[in-house]
Amino acid sequence: MLFGATTLSVVAILSIVGYLLVREYRNTEQEATRSALNLVQLINRDIRNTFSLYDSALTSLIDLLQSQELSSLAPRTRHALLFARASEAPSNAGFFVVDAEGKLIASSGAAMPVPDKAREQPWFQAHLNAVDDEIFISRPFHSSQDPNEWNIILSRRVSGPEGAFRGVAVGQIKLSYFQNMFRGLDIGPTGNISLVSADGFLLTQYPGSAQTYIGQNLSQAPNFIRFLKERHGSFTAMSGIYHQERLYNFAQVRDLPLVVVVAVSTSSIFDNWRHTALLIGSATLLLCLGLLWLTWLLTRELRLRHQAERVLAELAATDPLTGLANRRTLDTTLDLEWRRAQRSGSPVSLMMIDIDNFKDFNDSHGHQAGDEAIRRVAQVIKSHTRRPADLAARYGGEEFAVILTETGATGTRLLAEKIRAAVEEMEPVIANHKKLTVSLGTCSRYAKPGDDPQALISTADKALYQAKKGGRNRVVNINETGLNALRPKPQA
Ligand code: GH3
Ligand code: MG
Ligand code: MG
Repeated sequence: MLFGATTLSVVAILSIVGYLLVREYRNTEQEATRSALNLVQLINRDIRNTFSLYDSALTSLIDLLQSQELSSLAPRTRHALLFARASEAPSNAGFFVVDAEGKLIASSGAAMPVPDKAREQPWFQAHLNAVDDEIFISRPFHSSQDPNEWNIILSRRVSGPEGAFRGVAVGQIKLSYFQNMFRGLDIGPTGNISLVSADGFLLTQYPGSAQTYIGQNLSQAPNFIRFLKERHGSFTAMSGIYHQERLYNFAQVRDLPLVVVVAVSTSSIFDNWRHTALLIGSATLLLCLGLLWLTWLLTRELRLRHQAERVLAELAATDPLTGLANRRTLDTTLDLEWRRAQRSGSPVSLMMIDIDNFKDFNDSHGHQAGDEAIRRVAQVIKSHTRRPADLAARYGGEEFAVILTETGATGTRLLAEKIRAAVEEMEPVIANHKKLTVSLGTCSRYAKPGDDPQALISTADKALYQAKKGGRNRVVNINETGLNALRPKPQA
């Protein structure tokens, strides 16, 4: 029971600690996801603002070019007016406009390089073939002014009054702008922020790896396919680039073919949790093992004590010479059986047995032989009382008593007779000595309410006295009227 209770406690402790650790794990995961998604939203807003500055610069450029009054202005004023909005666009690498033939109409700076053969450029082709008026975002490319600088192009179609293609307005943005934007954000040692175009090209990534990864085509990467499909959210997956499990948080920039991704390695997210779990887990395990060990010690001590108590109880209940029950056990057993018989209405019988002329035997052969004789007689009595509820006891000296439960006078007298005969048949204790005999007085009674079992002892004693008086080596029964209608067997 003790072990069961301890095991239950250990299971309860482990379950509680396990539950708390799992909850803490979930909290950590949720917290990391929440802060990464907040970051995604923040970046998303900044990018939208930046692109809308570019877009409004392009729109204003197109509108102004189509106004009639522009041609009447002086070239400097005209240039200043055309590119006034463009100068507000951060980190821009220049604006220009080409006509439907790809010829330059206007440029924000003299040094502004216009790609050769504009007609063959993807941005030109995209607007030439487009039916709608969508903004175009190019793949990243190295700037011709600075080969280390990555740029992208944002362009809008210039349309005539009936929607005819009249050319393209182009703005060029340095990607280092986004690197600088991301630089101020805290994303932990293993995190990074990426800006990916909707057709799968990595536009920029912070920290560091710009030289390696910018321009990389991710359109076939399973994670990128999920970004496009789910539009915004978060998930945990293996990174094809970092070859580790990462928590991806992403959102598409509204109205633009761009996706912002904040990714953090899961191992770094759960670093603290892992330390805590290891500490608490091992402490709990040690505690539980200690508890089980203490319980084992306690159980062992209790078992030893219980064994010692049982041995002591047995010693206290047994007569040391014969191994039979002692007088105390006889009294308590008789009380117990008497009360049980009172409830069940069954008879209880008692035999008093006394070795005949034992004083003479003792005097002639000494106490040691006397003890042996007592032991032998006890053995005979014991071998005749085999029913579990019966009890043979040493009453004192060379006297014995036997309690027989649920046994009437007939059965008791028969058993008494057997014991008497068996003692008579016993091998002599001392060679050539005459045989030992016993006298038996028995009494059988139905236990009535209020009756005292002592009456059973005194009556059996009286019967024993009569047996002695009648010449010894005999059985005398004294019975209650109505019990088996037996008469004491006349003894020869
Ligand atoms: P009776 O037939 O009337 O019973 O005569 P008895 O001699 O047996 O009866 P009595 O009561 O006069 O004597 C009993 C003797 O039993 C006295 C004592 O020496 C002996 N005795 C009692 N207890 C022990 C014992 O533990 N060991 C030995 N060796 N003798 C004992
Ligand atoms: Mg005697
Ligand atoms: Mg006696």
